[in-house]
Amino acid sequence: MEFDTISAVSTALGEGAIGIVRLSGDQAIEIADRIYKGKNTLKETPSHTIVYGHLIDPKTNQRVEEAMVSVLRAPKTFTREDVVEINCHGGIMSVNRVLQLTLTNGARLAEPGEFTKRAFLNGRIDLSQAEGVMDLIRAKTDKAMNIALNQVEGRLSKKISILRQALLETVANVEVNIDYPEYDAETMTHELLKSKASFVIEEINSLLQTAEQGKIVREGLSTVIIGRPNVGKSSLLNSLVHENKAIVTDIPGTTRDVIEEYVNVRGVPLRLVDTAGIRETEDIVERIGVERSRQVLKDAELLLLVLNYGEELSKEDEALFEVVEKMNVIVIVNKTDQEQKIDMEKVYQLAASKPVITTALIEDKGVEELEQAISDLFFAGRLEAEDVTYVSNSRHIALLELAKSTIEDAVQAIEDGVPIDLVQIDITKTWELLGEIIGDSVQESLLDQLFSQFCLGK
Ligand code: GDP
Ligand code: ZN
Repeated sequence: MEFDTISAVSTALGEGAIGIVRLSGDQAIEIADRIYKGKNTLKETPSHTIVYGHLIDPKTNQRVEEAMVSVLRAPKTFTREDVVEINCHGGIMSVNRVLQLTLTNGARLAEPGEFTKRAFLNGRIDLSQAEGVMDLIRAKTDKAMNIALNQVEGRLSKKISILRQALLETVANVEVNIDYPEYDAETMTHELLKSKASFVIEEINSLLQTAEQGKIVREGLSTVIIGRPNVGKSSLLNSLVHENKAIVTDIPGTTRDVIEEYVNVRGVPLRLVDTAGIRETEDIVERIGVERSRQVLKDAELLLLVLNYGEELSKEDEALFEVVEKMNVIVIVNKTDQEQKIDMEKVYQLAASKPVITTALIEDKGVEELEQAISDLFFAGRLEAEDVTYVSNSRHIALLELAKSTIEDAVQAIEDGVPIDLVQIDITKTWELLGEIIGDSVQESLLDQLFSQFCLGK
């Protein structure tokens, strides 16, 4: 395909000491040569090398600054086009000036996600990989980053391709059987269809099972700390934040209104959410009552309910148990360094089957146990298995669910004795739906929508 040459800043603005302006397209090297002065021209520079020189404004012939320039010739580049990367000193001003130079000398400013879109359109990556790039940029934790990387590497695509291949073979087989009626086409085909279909259903199911975990890993588990005043909620927040360094990537355009803090607890990313303006929620029942408290907390995926070991259980504590009755809760009995006033039997009774952890946060005691409880609650250790392909993208999940129900229709039809050529329609449909995950047969508008979510310069 033929595209014009695009240019954008591809490092996060202001971050790091080096800024990169990236050009991609047929004219990338020619345009860069207009603003570059070095020992040799970039045209003479071998592919995949980096050279040192100066950037000049060809209008005034003035030096703008010094730069290291990478020349990467098609097709072995991310976009499969000629790519030039200009590494310059990081300040926003200077990076922008270099970007301006490329724009006034023949390049067009890239739209958000356009580099990745080109990689897709040029066949370098498939759609699920492109989405992986997007997730990678937004990843908040190592784990989320790993999943995104797997997707970029095409793990999900490979799985999907295997399933599509199985469906295709089935369809081909059906054709053969229809064409050679001397075989007992009907029975044979039915058997084959059923076994292939159940294989596909099983595989889709196992992919979908990873979806919930995938979503958690990708978006973080929205977590709220609740408890009466003075039980140790802030202390808990602090120990979680301090002991678990969170990777927080600040991507322009993704900043939300709510204040969120990410902590990574043994691979479980907690998103400490600011519910109704407070991450730690105290006096909630007293202020607004049980029913409304439930409403306020209804979106929380994990509640950390903190109690005071050194005080008797109060009505407020009991009301909190009532509020969180049906939710994911870990009960934390804090201040075990103090003389016991709390009735632990009553606590266990109120907690029902929810985990109860005792802590003395002031002495850093019990935090490990709490972290283990969090990890057990959500992943039962499974998250550590690195070779699982997680499905975390909601578009993929929706398509997988559709594909599953379509192939289940096919199986039902087989059992009902529906003619083979009709069953085949459902199988072909399933094949198409799975294809949409990797970008086979996606419509242009969907593409635009997807890629416009990317950051500039990616
Ligand atoms: P919050 O009001 O629930 O947020 O409670 P804070 O985290 O602000 O803690 C209230 C007070 O209890 C502070 O003075 C803390 O230092 C203290 N505190 C927190 N954890 C412990 C603990 O494990 N033992 C003791 N003795 N004091 C604690
Ligand atoms: Zn507090």
